[in-house]
Amino acid sequence: MSVQVAAPAVELKELSGPMDKAAGPPCEPVAAHPPGHGVAAAPCPLAAPEREAALAPSCSERPPGSGCPGLSSSAAGLPPGAAKVPQASAMKRSDPHHPQHRHRDGNDSSGAAAEALVSPDGTVSEAPRTVKKIQFADQKQEFNKRPTKIGRRSLSRSISQSSTDSYSSAASYTDSSDDETSPRDKQQKNSKGSSDFCVKNIKQAEFGRREIEIAEQEMPALMALRKRAQGEKPLSGAKIVGCTHITAQTAVLMETLGALGAQCRWAACNIYSTLNEVAAALAESGFPVFAWKGESEDDFWWCIDRCVNVEGWQPNMILDDGGDLTHWIYKKYPNMFKKIKGIVEESVTGVHRLYQLSKAGKLCVPAMNVNDSVTKQKFDNLYCCRESILDGLKRTTDMMFGGKQVVVCGYGEVGKGCCAALKAMGSIVYVTEIDPICALQACMDGFRLVKLNEVIRQVDIVITCTGNKNVVTREHLDRMKNSCIVCNMGHSNTEIDVASLRTPELTWERVRSQVDHVIWPDGKRIVLLAEGRLLNLSCSTVPTFVLSITATTQALALIELYNAPEGRYKQDVYLLPKKMDEYVASLHLPTFDAHLTELTDEQAKYLGLNKNGPFKPNYYRY
Ligand code: NAD
Repeated sequence: MSVQVAAPAVELKELSGPMDKAAGPPCEPVAAHPPGHGVAAAPCPLAAPEREAALAPSCSERPPGSGCPGLSSSAAGLPPGAAKVPQASAMKRSDPHHPQHRHRDGNDSSGAAAEALVSPDGTVSEAPRTVKKIQFADQKQEFNKRPTKIGRRSLSRSISQSSTDSYSSAASYTDSSDDETSPRDKQQKNSKGSSDFCVKNIKQAEFGRREIEIAEQEMPALMALRKRAQGEKPLSGAKIVGCTHITAQTAVLMETLGALGAQCRWAACNIYSTLNEVAAALAESGFPVFAWKGESEDDFWWCIDRCVNVEGWQPNMILDDGGDLTHWIYKKYPNMFKKIKGIVEESVTGVHRLYQLSKAGKLCVPAMNVNDSVTKQKFDNLYCCRESILDGLKRTTDMMFGGKQVVVCGYGEVGKGCCAALKAMGSIVYVTEIDPICALQACMDGFRLVKLNEVIRQVDIVITCTGNKNVVTREHLDRMKNSCIVCNMGHSNTEIDVASLRTPELTWERVRSQVDHVIWPDGKRIVLLAEGRLLNLSCSTVPTFVLSITATTQALALIELYNAPEGRYKQDVYLLPKKMDEYVASLHLPTFDAHLTELTDEQAKYLGLNKNGPFKPNYYRY
């Protein structure tokens, strides 16, 4: 069986800088897929002709069902040429207890969902039994016109952790807590007279612009893409609807997409994470942005709806973080998928939902899984956490790390980053693990592997990084010593059983923003940070450079999906090819004045590699 390597969709030329030669785009399909996922492989986004002949893994290297570009058909189980637009139930996760499986819409609307057929020409027609019974999100078809302040507050308390995980509490210099008016009730215009946006305060734009300019300094690859795209606009005609955290870094991404020719409309994927002044700056420069810090759940869906439900404009690309936007379009506007060329998804949660759809044969457009690309996993999880754990702890507690006893639960990428940082500061670090391989790694790295029970009485800090639930239970919390700091670095606020602390005998004292003292009847108190949500994203900032890597990957995935010739991608979830990861990395190397060694012809032959990469097989673990 041979693999068809698709021709490049777009070729961007003339990258300046020392990495040019190595910066060649990836161009062969990926064989390795996350376990359990029937992932299709993506061909390269930006291919150079001379690299086309690079080593293409054979189909036999792929796990069954992974598919090859041009060969895989993902709408399994469906009649040829027709794929179903997902039912409402398809957007839910199979295990309701799994943290990634919980969502703000706990309702099961199966049976009452919209169902549609996509014909080979892309026409979506509604199947007879579906139609108007679409149930979505909070089951509301209408938005609250004027939610009361109390209503807004209570709504925001009730939503799922995916939207309550704060992303960045970076100083919001211009926020006026006095201004309680909902942005939805304000009439605002930017200096060009446009009112196609909804932000907290358009007058904050100037401050936001400065934030964006600072972020640009640390996002070299996006700036390089902008440079390269001068003259050619690989996203010309693209209408991208986005739902991500709205921060200075995403603003750089959005403005890059704009520079590459795309029109964008944007909402926030998290009700707390929007930097109001950045949203204002984007609105001022003409981006229809609908987001502000402290949205209610009703606001959240309203903002998403304002991005997609607009006269005379229909998206043809989706950039999502968490899957809420995709979910909304599936539920409310399934016909929009007629025009949508692809979805790029960043988060674990969103990717998981896409795989569910794909497995059920209900994904009706191609999707790119950015989350599982090497650069995202390694840099976002390991290096980002290595840098931000100390920042989050310091900002909230002013503590000194030297000599402190810390237990880190989970020695995956995030745990490794946290342990390395704390060890470097002179902390005594214990690790808990369930996986013997990661446990052995912890031992080899010089950490004591323990059970949580063994150290819980003596440690000064407990940090969870497992992605699991109830890792720290009420029993553990009862046994902790006075002043023990408890926090979480995992995605969901499920790792610490915070709910078990909301009992009458315990007193909660808010001592700072994101810092609670929970006091036992005998006076013992523990210091709970961010109520068990991600510490770094709730209480500190994350390094822009890391976000640059992810944002570049997203931009390249969008370019590829948008420009891919008809038929290159099926209705399936694709992993980014290794060469794209290498390309993203190479775009960041000039920042460090790093000098990459080039393979000689002889060496390349000896190793069986193409001189321009990919340099590792897909199963390689970095
Ligand atoms: P990972 O799968 O590499 O590591 C998790 C580790 O926890 C695994 O080794 C697993 O064996 C271990 N584990 C599971 N249950 C456990 C238990 N009960 N006790 C001890 N160990 C247990 O995942 P990762 O990349 O390290 O990510 C961990 C979590 O952090 C995820 O929820 C992820 O979404 C999140 N994350 C956070 C950030 C951040 O900035 N805070 C960044 C990336 C990822």
